[in-house]
This record gives sequence, C-alpha cells and structure tokens, in this order.
Amino acid sequence: MPLAPMAGAEQAYEPAQARPTQQADGPAYSLPAPKLQRAEALDRDENWLWAIGTLWAVISLLLVLGLRWAAGFSRLAARIAKPPWVQGLIFIPLVVILLRLLHLPLALAGHHIGLAYGLSIERWPAWSWDWTKGLLVSLVISTLVGSLLFAIVRHAPRRWWLWFWLLSLPLMLAGVFIQPLIIDPLFNHFEPLSKSHPELVTRLEQVVKRSGESIPPDHMFLMKASEKTTQLNAYVTGFGSSKRVVVWDTSLKKSSPDEVLFIFGHELGHYVLGDVVNGLMIGAAAALLGLWIAFHLTRRLLCRYGERWQIAGEDDWSTLVVLMLVFTVLTIVSAPIANAVSRYVEHRADVYGQEVIHGIVVNPQATAVQSFQRLGEESLDTPYPNPGMVFWTYDHPPIANRAEFARNYDPWKPGGHPRFFAK
Ligand SMILES: [Zn+2]
Repeated sequence: MPLAPMAGAEQAYEPAQARPTQQADGPAYSLPAPKLQRAEALDRDENWLWAIGTLWAVISLLLVLGLRWAAGFSRLAARIAKPPWVQGLIFIPLVVILLRLLHLPLALAGHHIGLAYGLSIERWPAWSWDWTKGLLVSLVISTLVGSLLFAIVRHAPRRWWLWFWLLSLPLMLAGVFIQPLIIDPLFNHFEPLSKSHPELVTRLEQVVKRSGESIPPDHMFLMKASEKTTQLNAYVTGFGSSKRVVVWDTSLKKSSPDEVLFIFGHELGHYVLGDVVNGLMIGAAAALLGLWIAFHLTRRLLCRYGERWQIAGEDDWSTLVVLMLVFTVLTIVSAPIANAVSRYVEHRADVYGQEVIHGIVVNPQATAVQSFQRLGEESLDTPYPNPGMVFWTYDHPPIANRAEFARNYDPWKPGGHPRFFAK
C-alpha cells in the first residue's frame, strides 16, 4: 500500500529538471547510465536474495522436522511441564528463536545490500536492536496464536480449520487496529504532520476536500524515516479510529510540493476506496481457503512422515511446525495471485491520485511522472525488471509502467472519462 512523497514549502527540493524521461518519445521512466548500472546490479542481488530466501524458508522447516529438532523440543517441553498450555510456552519460543537464527544470515545479507547501495543508513548496532525487537514481537504473537491454534486442534481435530478461522477474524481486526498504535512506534518515531508542517497540512486539506472525505489533521502523521533510510514512502494504515495516513520525512525533504500532493492523493485513494478493509476481507477469504487446504495437507504429511519426524499425532506440539511448513508453501505458491490483486489496487490508487489533484496542481500528468521518476531513482528501481519476478513478487506495478501510464492518462481531455470524479 505504501507509495511516495510529499513536501513542505520550506524544504529544499530540486526543481523538476528537464530530463530525457520527460520527452514524449522517450521512456517515461529512465535512469542515467551510472545509476542504471547500479540499479541492475541491485536488482540481480535482490532477486538472488529472494530466491535463496524462498528456498531456505521451506528447507529450514524441513530440517527442523527431518533432523527431529521439533520432536526434541516437544519432548523437552513435556518433560518440564504437564499442562499442554505450559508446554506451548516452552515449545513455541524455542521453535521461533531457532527459525529466526536460521534466517539471520539472510537478514544480515539483506541489510548489507541496503547499506552497500546506499538505500539504508541504519548502522549495525541499531539494526541489531531492531532485529531483536522484531524477534520479541514475533515471540509474543507466535506464542499467543500458536497456543490458541493448538488448543483448537486438540479440541476439534476435524473442524479446527473452521473454528480457528472464525477466531482469527477478530484477531486480524485487532492486529490491524493495534499495529499503528503499538507495533510501528517500536521501530520508528512518529509525530503529527501538523507539528512540523502546518502549511503542508493546509494544502493537503485542499486535496482531502476535493475527495469528499474527511481526514482530521490528527490522522496525518510524519514518520522519521531519515534516521534509517534514504528511500521515499507514504502509506495508509490502521482501522476505525486508528486509521491514518503516514508520510516519511524523506519524501518531504526530496520532493516538490506538487509531487507531495500527488503521493498524498494516491494514499488518499487507498483511504477513500477502503483498501485497508478490502484487504482484510480478501485476507479473510484467503485464510479460510488456506486453512482448509492446510488441514488436509497436514493430515497427509503426518500420515506419511509422522513416524520419520517423530510426531505422535495432531495433538503433538511438533504439528505446529508441519503447519508452518504448509502455510509457508501455500504463501509462496499463492504469491502471484496476492500480488496481482495488490498491483490492481495500487494502480487504482495511482488513477485516483492523479484525478484528485486535478485543478489543484498545474499539470497532474507531469507531476505524477516526475514523482515516479524521483521515487524510482531514490530506490534504484530498474526500468527493466524481470517479467517473471514482476509476476511473482511485485506488489506494485513496475515504476516504468506507472510512469508510462501517468504520462498518457488525461481523462479531462475531450472524450476522456475520469473514473472517480465528475468531469
Ligand atoms: Zn499504494
């Protein structure tokens, strides 16, 4: 859902330069030669990291099962405590810590790449502390959800997938509600946008007014991303009273005010079109299907490999690791569908963003193209992504496609039809 930048009038930004990218016959998004080389190298590195990470996510779980580490943890927990829920308090954290450690080399490689290409400026000690906090949050959530899931599996061995799904709905809602209030502030600093950028809030309110929506200024936040990254972003998050628009301070520093209005317009699109709630509903439908498939696959795997993995039955704690394996594979296999939906939603927000700033900025098309150019340059996005990777992993359309669409999209010209606004 994240997107891009906004700017305060007092901030230094480069005036939109006459770039080859803005010529009507060239590509709408392009990089100067040295940057292009680095972007292509980054693309290759990230693709490798993704491929290895995806394989390793499956292999590491197979190892935890095949080497009977899961079985060992389960026996250890049974030796220490009798009540199953106390066993869970021992078993789940052991598994979570083991898996996090198995994935640590990839996390280190990922941050190394971010530093090497200048995308991240977070030093290793701060990164390590973030990693540790991530582990602690994961321990708490995994232990709660895993204990709940296991209790349901024990009590309703044939229908646990349905019961767990029903219980997961309020949990998902609570998670989306709580995330911006409790989880996000653990990792970044936030403040009301009006505190440092009151004049920007005034301009944004113009855009909000045109949308017909009302976003109270205290639902607009500035995130101090510049402590950690050089990249630009903005996003909509939360649910009900925690719903909010968040803009990274890096976006404000590096973009022109018009570009900021466009990026905000894109985020406003998510807000107005209810994409957080839509995402929750699609997620809930996918979870029901996923749980049903997981129920059947887990049974088959236990029948076939239960003995080899030393898992006594579905009420053995190690079954949780089998479930993790099944969910991991399902997530990887279904990624193209999830990402196709996401790309559609993001494209729709691009259309909305361009339409909502019509009449407020002088040239919405040029503004949008320029803001994609800046976004892509700051993130070193290659103009030529691998189509297979786009299909499998891109949750936004490639930046070149977004820029190309923006350049050609003018629903106010004769014969055009705006999608979200009256002409
Ligand atoms: Zn978005």
